[in-house]
Amino acid sequence: MSSQKLWQAVLGELEVSFTRAQFETWFKGTSVIASEDGYIVVGVPNIFTKEWLEKKYCQQISDSLSRIAPDIEGIKYTVTTVGGKVSGARDQIIAPIEAPVTVVAATPTPTQGANKKLNHRYTLDGFVVGSSNDLAFAASQAVVAAPGAKYNPLFIYGGVGLGKTHLIQAIGNEINRNDPSKKVLYVTSEQFTNEFLNSISGKSTKKFTEKYRSLDVLIVDDIQFLGNKERTQEEFFHTFNTLYEANKQVILSSDKPPRDIPHLEDRLRSRFGWGMVADIQKPDFETRAAIIQRKAASRGINLELPVIEHIARHHQHNIRDLEGTLTNILAQCELKDREPSLEFVNSILGAAAPATKRRLATPKMIIEKTAGFFDISPSDITGQCRDKDIVVPRQIAMYIMRQELGLSFPKIAQNVGGRDHTTAMHSVSKIEKLLEVNEELRSEVSQVRERVTL
Ligand code: ADP
Ligand code: MG
Repeated sequence: MSSQKLWQAVLGELEVSFTRAQFETWFKGTSVIASEDGYIVVGVPNIFTKEWLEKKYCQQISDSLSRIAPDIEGIKYTVTTVGGKVSGARDQIIAPIEAPVTVVAATPTPTQGANKKLNHRYTLDGFVVGSSNDLAFAASQAVVAAPGAKYNPLFIYGGVGLGKTHLIQAIGNEINRNDPSKKVLYVTSEQFTNEFLNSISGKSTKKFTEKYRSLDVLIVDDIQFLGNKERTQEEFFHTFNTLYEANKQVILSSDKPPRDIPHLEDRLRSRFGWGMVADIQKPDFETRAAIIQRKAASRGINLELPVIEHIARHHQHNIRDLEGTLTNILAQCELKDREPSLEFVNSILGAAAPATKRRLATPKMIIEKTAGFFDISPSDITGQCRDKDIVVPRQIAMYIMRQELGLSFPKIAQNVGGRDHTTAMHSVSKIEKLLEVNEELRSEVSQVRERVTL
């Protein structure tokens, strides 16, 4: 078997034992680049992936490798440079994160006016995928592949700073990149409202109507603000129908699902659910870690794994804050001419903590909140009872420790009544598998996580 085939076979095995999000995040950009002295050399996009595969997933990978090719000694990882520069050049330390690219259009296109509000910094490539946002991401990819065809409208909802604007603008950017003749318009629902009301007072409603109803793609951000605005809702209803009937793509974002938006007409509410409704949850530990790594690397900084994990553990809430913290850390390193060591980062985070006033999740708190949610006592979780009513919450608590705190299996096992680490491993993977098929469990777990990270 060629090394390439061998690695494909290993990936095939790993794909079923990891969640889709984990697989996408850690294994997608890998390939075999050489084989030497009984080792295969696997190229990975960045140092962080390298460390993660070596340290975290080493066991699973080598198990799978020894099953498929017992004569191979092992795997070496090497960073290939496709993903860009990852060395720690100090002089780049306070360059803006993914600085907005100034796009100079070589030839003006007829859609230029319509597209000017899209921020080119938002791309699908720059969006880190994890279990909290993989559905929304996959739906976005599908819309880019065939606008207006399948998921229409695409409705993405989730809390503040979790990537909704990023994702819906990225869709607009990608559609436009594939076909610059497409008329894509991005507006917030307030802009839509103001423009509409101005068109009434300026007697230019016809122009307004023509503009909106001739689009190929209409993206409206924060659609929840349409609640209570009756006339605008009426107008939006007709815009929506015209576009929908012409198979034009509509993309909406909101802080809540259609059913929970107050004062929204029923006919709009039902239309918002006609296509695909996808949520974005708070990012789990792995996703937060991957985002930190990616954002630091894009500034030419290579953070060490313990530092990344420390920041990810400290920040459990939203990605905008996470980015802010990272900017702060990197700026202070520059200012004080220090390396971003664990100790230094710790001192910065420690100083910032009182301002955020948020309690950080701990294993103890996860046990308490999980027990509280399921109406059992924390000692049930750490105890030995094998009733299903107790076992499932216990497994959920372990899953959340893994997701929120990134704890190792022995640590999790130790916190949940000193069990064996294989129990923790089994519990976490059981919940992961169930979550993909069990809607009710998905909702329970997300409610508990919500309580833990509030
Ligand atoms: P929302 O619209 O949900 O309030 P934004 O889209 O404005 O959130 O995201 C806040 C910040 O976090 C943006 O800078 C965005 O690029 C970044 N961000 C959010 N999610 C991700 C992700 N999955 N990967 C990379 N960056 C992200
Ligand atoms: Mg937004």
